[in-house]
Parts: sequence; structure tokens; C-alpha cells
Amino acid sequence: MFKDILNSKFGQYQAFTRRKVVEDQLISRGIKDGQVLEAMEKVKRHAFVDDYLRTRAYEDQPLPIAEGQTISQPYIVALMTELLALKGGEKVLEIGTGSGYQTAVLAELAKEIYTIEFFQSLAEKAKTVLAAEGYSNILYRTGDGAAGWPDRAPYEAIIVTCAAASVPKALFEQLADKGRLVAPTGLEGSQRLMLYTKTGAEIKETFITEVRFVPMLKAGGLED
Ligand code: SAH
Repeated sequence: MFKDILNSKFGQYQAFTRRKVVEDQLISRGIKDGQVLEAMEKVKRHAFVDDYLRTRAYEDQPLPIAEGQTISQPYIVALMTELLALKGGEKVLEIGTGSGYQTAVLAELAKEIYTIEFFQSLAEKAKTVLAAEGYSNILYRTGDGAAGWPDRAPYEAIIVTCAAASVPKALFEQLADKGRLVAPTGLEGSQRLMLYTKTGAEIKETFITEVRFVPMLKAGGLED
């Protein structure tokens, strides 16, 4: 009984905190898309971090997860999602499931999410949390996301949450016509968040902002 009251109070407090995140971290920095803001207010970031970080889940920064990886900063998740300009009917490919937090935000806004994670342990944990949070429009794979997920291509939107020197060619090939791809590119210390839009065979690129992401891995080293 007492535990129920405590849990419900904790839930109210987290919901209040998320409203503050939307105002103080997102709207104030220029995130405008109402659907993105709504999804960011709804998705429980605290469900995607380890217990010891639960009270810090809504801080304005990335936080550590297992395998030396990170859960992205809320603002970066909102920014990348907004850049994809999702309308609801899309198939989205995500490279780097990590905690599954970004995946949840995408699952709120698109039809089907195909997500690939390098580490099996992270993929399994994310899958468990996302199922517990009620998402049923996500498909999971473990392995090197640089090859994409060709048998389900094309994707109207592709999001990469780990940085390689350049975006793997396979991902552009799997992007639908008029599709949008968001990815951090470059080496540690000087990464650039880029938006790529595809029209026919042509890819247009737009520099968005400087960012810091974990590197894209491949068996035996880093992706080039
Ligand atoms: N959006 C995630 C970010 C996780 S960090 C979140 O908010 O939790 C990036 C993730 O990319 C890490 O989990 C890392 O293991 C994964 N990753 C790195 N190289 C990869 C590769 N080649 N293929 C798929 N995932 C990769």
C-alpha cells in the first residue's frame, strides 16, 4: 500500500520533470515539432537507464549505459527525430539501439522501427524495456549496422546514433526516394551532425551542428 503510493508519487514527479525537460531543454533550444515534443514528454527516459542513475535520468546530458556506451542527451534525441520529419506511416531504420530510448521516441512517431545494435547484451535489454513500455512496432537485430537491413529496405527515414568517418554506403542505398537520413560523421572530438536527403540518385547534405557520439564499431575495430 505504502509502496503503491510512493510509486504513484514518483510517477507524478517524473511526469512533471519531463514537462520541464520539454520546456527548458527542448523548446528553449528551438525544437518546434509538436509531435516530437509530445513524444519526448511521454517517453520515460528513467526506464532506459540503470537503477543507480534513475534520479539523474532527466539531466541535460548523455549518461552511461552498459558496454561503455551512452544513452543520448534528450535534446539530441529530439533534434535528430525532428530532422527526420516523420508523419506516421514510415518505416525507420535505426543503427545503434543502445538503451532503446531513441527507439521508443521513433516508435511513437512512425509505423515500424527496424533497429540494429552491435552488442547482444544491449539489444536484449532494450528489447525487454521496450516491450515492458508497450511498444510492439519495433524489430530488432544484433550485429554490424553498417550493412543496414537490406531485406526490409527501402526506409523513408534512417537514423545513425554512432559516428563513423562517413556514412556507410549501404545505408544510402537502403534509403527511399525522398527519404531522410540523420547521422553524426567524423572522428572523435570533431563530429558533425548531418542531414542527408535523397532525390532519385542524388543525395543532398546539410550540416546541422557539432556533436559528440560514441564511435561506430565493427568486429575487430572501428568502422571507417
Ligand atoms: N540512441 C541510443 C544511443 C546509444 S549509443 C540511446 O539513446 O540509448 C550508440 C549505440 O551504437 C551503442 O549502443 C553502440 O553499441 C551502437 N553501435 C556502435 N557501433 C555499431 C554498429 N556498427 N552497428 C550497430 N550498432 C552500433
